Amino acid sequence: MASDVSTDMTSSVTAAGAQHGVFDGLLGQQAAKDKLTGLLYSGAQGGAHLFLGAAGIGKRVFARAFAKAVLCAGGAAGGTVSVLDAVAHIADAVDAVSAVAAAPGRLPCGVCLPCRLFQNGALGDFLFIAPSGQSQRPAIPVDAARSVVDWFSTRPLHSSKKVCIIAQADHMTEQAQNALLKTLEEPPAYGAIILTAENPGMLLDTVRSRCSTTFFTGYTDREVEYILRNADAPPHESAIPLLTRLSGGNPGYAFGLAQSETFMSTRDELFGLFCGHLDGDPRATYMLQSFLEKNRERFAHFAGMVIFLLRDIWLLSMGGMGIRSGDDVGASGGASSGGGSDSGASGANSGDSGVGAEIVNADMERRLAAYGERFRPGALLDCIERVDETCSQVSKNANFNLAVNAMLVKISATLNTAYNRSV
Ligand SMILES: [Zn+2]
Repeated sequence: MASDVSTDMTSSVTAAGAQHGVFDGLLGQQAAKDKLTGLLYSGAQGGAHLFLGAAGIGKRVFARAFAKAVLCAGGAAGGTVSVLDAVAHIADAVDAVSAVAAAPGRLPCGVCLPCRLFQNGALGDFLFIAPSGQSQRPAIPVDAARSVVDWFSTRPLHSSKKVCIIAQADHMTEQAQNALLKTLEEPPAYGAIILTAENPGMLLDTVRSRCSTTFFTGYTDREVEYILRNADAPPHESAIPLLTRLSGGNPGYAFGLAQSETFMSTRDELFGLFCGHLDGDPRATYMLQSFLEKNRERFAHFAGMVIFLLRDIWLLSMGGMGIRSGDDVGASGGASSGGGSDSGASGANSGDSGVGAEIVNADMERRLAAYGERFRPGALLDCIERVDETCSQVSKNANFNLAVNAMLVKISATLNTAYNRSV
């Protein structure tokens, strides 16, 4: 079967102290949770589902959690599944009894046979499909779609349901999507099929119209920080605040950045050159320009970093870390770099309180505080605005070198002339 090509965040999003429920320990996405839980407890979990949202936002993690709950034979869903029901569905009656006794009313129960098999990746009533292949945009071929159709043609073995997840379903070829139409239209009574997709435009109208769509939106900074910090392989602690801000509310994007071994060293190089520029060192200015020129494809990303650097200096110039988040300027500019995705799920990063007031590059605090003493807060805000403007000019294909040069000259003039506190 096709292999799983992108980062699986299943264990990354697990939180402690969660309440009982289908999405125990999964942060955020309240609207999706409410909808899916409602479907489960009203017995309407079957049929075709489409989970839509940016890559890395956690659709797959939620799809797995939902699938596990659908497949569970033990939990008494809203009191509608009795021990007898459970016994009828699973091979081991003792399992069913102990499952219901152990966790009445809870889905998934975690102890019934389907739950345990699912946990070990050994439940035959669950099928996972994802694009495979080495190409830039690996596809899900028609053969994979046909295998799904075949798979649904036999009854479940251990559960009362069969669930198939097709991840990155927007990578299905047109032929594959057509092969799936009938199953999406009329899945067997025991069947549920979940498509996850980033780009609904790549799906046929006939596919979309047959699915019940659930939307996945951006996370708050606080949630992203939590997810990063509690991942199986968390990024280096000093990188987490910056990764969070650059993520635009998308933990998967932050993990992608963190996986680049050079993330922190590149930050150090960029910030070293930028600080040199602030100090009026012409060599640093020249090298900064070549650095940005060399990385012009990722200008939005690096501009976002510079905005957070300036924001840190601004916070420190205002007397430290106690500024309320209402004054937070960080959200305005840098978030635009959280892209790489075209689905517009970034920018939904609201409700961020408290965390926004702390400096992002805490490991550089002493050096940045020295700038904070030198520069006037208003001048720093002007510079942030200038970087943001330049970002938008570059995205509109302005002459790159001219735009960047003008930005650096303006920053230098703004900070190092009449505005300068120490003049
Ligand atoms: Zn169970």
